[in-house]
Amino acid sequence: MAEFSVQLPGGFLHENRIHRQAIFRPICGETELFFQESNRKKDSIPCYVTGILAAALDKIGGIHANPFVVSQLCVADRQYLMLQLASMLEGDVFWILSSCSSCKSDFDICVKRSDLPVKKAGLGYPFATVKLDEAELTCRIPVGEDQEKIEPLADDDALHLLLENCIEEVNGNAPQEGFIDSLTAADIGCIEDVLEDISPSVTTSLLTHCPECDAEQVVELDPYTLTGTETGNFYQEIHTLAMAYHWSEQDIMALPRSRRRTYLDLIDRSRGMYE
Ligand SMILES: [Zn+2]
Repeated sequence: MAEFSVQLPGGFLHENRIHRQAIFRPICGETELFFQESNRKKDSIPCYVTGILAAALDKIGGIHANPFVVSQLCVADRQYLMLQLASMLEGDVFWILSSCSSCKSDFDICVKRSDLPVKKAGLGYPFATVKLDEAELTCRIPVGEDQEKIEPLADDDALHLLLENCIEEVNGNAPQEGFIDSLTAADIGCIEDVLEDISPSVTTSLLTHCPECDAEQVVELDPYTLTGTETGNFYQEIHTLAMAYHWSEQDIMALPRSRRRTYLDLIDRSRGMYE
């Protein structure tokens, strides 16, 4: 698998420039093993996503994509990258099993990752000016690091910390102590609306109809799922190659997935020839 480049819907702000090109590294067996092990200890989704993307990405706009850089990407960029990674590993098409909310029958829907609508960032990204009655705020779009920090908190505390982190200025100055507590529900609603306007987004709710009763259904897809790394017969593949070629585990792990599959294909075909 050659390196693979995508354009982020948002982008990474570095030295006053937005960098939108993200380059994945070729995925080898060792990286896949890391994905599998991360899947097993998936206690915090935001930390899991940071770990996975830092292992899978090479660069963002020429900058080495280490965990810190990945944690500074906005939520939509991280969702977008996880979907692209899933496409690289498992192909563009996948199926979601759902259950009709009306007639309760099960149905499958086919999803093409490349067809999921993506909204690009608006003007001023990642910052937005929010005009409240008494103040003008400069806010920034939440990033992975914000998600990591609020993940263990209860809803109210999470919202408080998120506002504290994302409100950078109040009337041109750093926010004063107690400012967040002075915000009304309407103020917070207004901040959310303005940020949503300029935020990039990836569609994760799919509208469809139940094939049995035709009722309209909304099916949610989890953009952070790497199905191939959860159910893959990874160890079986390594074992088959080791048995056939007597290569060391280390050598097999260093192969990109596409080459590993090519050899497995050859093994299958030569077995077919002699049976
Ligand atoms: Zn139905």
